Amino acid sequence: VQAQGGNASQCYSLEMNAKAVERLAMEAELRYAVERDELLLYFQPQTLIPSLQVIGVECLVRWQHQGKLVPPFEFIPLAEESGLIIPIGEWILRTACQQAKAWQAQGMPLVVAINISARQFQHPKFFALVQQVLIETAVDPQLIELEITEGVVMQDADHTIELLQRLRGLGVMLSIDDFGTGYSSLSYLKRFPINKLKIDQSFVRDMDSDQGDAAIVEAVIRLGHSLGLTVIAEGVETAAHLAALEQLGCDELQGYYFSRPLPALDAQAFLQKQLLP
Ligand code: C2E
Ligand code: CA
Ligand code: CA
Ligand code: CA
Repeated sequence: VQAQGGNASQCYSLEMNAKAVERLAMEAELRYAVERDELLLYFQPQTLIPSLQVIGVECLVRWQHQGKLVPPFEFIPLAEESGLIIPIGEWILRTACQQAKAWQAQGMPLVVAINISARQFQHPKFFALVQQVLIETAVDPQLIELEITEGVVMQDADHTIELLQRLRGLGVMLSIDDFGTGYSSLSYLKRFPINKLKIDQSFVRDMDSDQGDAAIVEAVIRLGHSLGLTVIAEGVETAAHLAALEQLGCDELQGYYFSRPLPALDAQAFLQKQLLP
């Protein structure tokens, strides 16, 4: 019995060890992702409701690695923990601003929304980086939107408000991502100098069958509007979602119903078809 127990725990620790080794290997590879030009941005359109006129795009990062396209949930957490999110996030910010500038120059002044991770937002040089990239790319700051998750802004709210104010001072737009999944203090929310709430897709998914989810979506839209904010729903997949959101007065949508995230050239062709004569 004892030998068996020993074996089992040995197996367990070997398995743990294999996981740790795999993680380390991945971290080592990720370290070179920027230098080797292995990261790319996908772009998912955002539209007005109900016209479906495209007004912006969200940038979603992918890692082209050893012949595979690695989705963000497989490397963003590792990038966060290892600190690699700082150089990776800088690449994302710069690339997104260059793209916004390029589309602006082509007669497509779209708002480009960029996901900012917790560690990136809390980095002491984040503000200076945004300022520098705006100058360097000469993009209209009003075309840049920073998406920050609810959990991040609510930590150390006083400091956050000051940082958000300075960012707004640069002219960029600010949105709270995955709204409804964290714990927002409503009294703080009122003080945040933000422009937009993004309703988390987990509430949108079943809003036509689950009354609780529908109630949350409705409450977020009302709350947002009463604070003077734009409200966008993400994860919009069906005509029924759109109809329900329109009925509730939601301003904008993003989701497979209108378009999947597209690589830059496909996104550009799609946007040109939508927006240019
Ligand atoms: P998120 O910011 O909430 O992004 C929305 C996710 O929902 C994206 O997944 C998008 O592809 C997916 N999505 C869009 N429309 C639909 C839909 O209609 N139905 C469903 N089921 N899903 C939809 P993705 O690209 O895999 O990104 C996952 C998460 O990874 C993002 O969630 C974000 O938290 C993170 N992420 C992505 N790109 C970046 C980035 O550039 N920087 C940082 N820091 N995080 C990123
Ligand atoms: Ca997002
Ligand atoms: Ca989201
Ligand atoms: Ca999310």
